[in-house]
Amino acid sequence: MTWVTDLSHFVSETGKLPTNVPGPAHRLAEYLASIVAAATSASDNQGQATRQIKCRRRPGHRACPGVIEYRLWPDERITWECPNCGDNGIISNWQSTAWDRRRVQPVH
Ligand SMILES: [Zn+2]
Repeated sequence: MTWVTDLSHFVSETGKLPTNVPGPAHRLAEYLASIVAAATSASDNQGQATRQIKCRRRPGHRACPGVIEYRLWPDERITWECPNCGDNGIISNWQSTAWDRRRVQPVH
């Protein structure tokens, strides 16, 4: 399935993960945040992945061995997909969060 997530729904007013959410929701938020951090820092390096994110799924109660592929698009959506199990999603509204690692650069 495709996870369409608005990262701003997962963060508190300070742009950080809230500490008062239950475990599963908090883990999902951390997972999405790590994808945002990786995707936005990879853009400094011509799209090369700077950090590997393991798939969080456990099909058949075994940890999926997939490594998430992610991409920051020109319209600032971030998409991600596990090439192993096909779990995938779209993240929006990450720009004001603590995981936006883009450098401020002039637009070409
Ligand atoms: Zn997977």
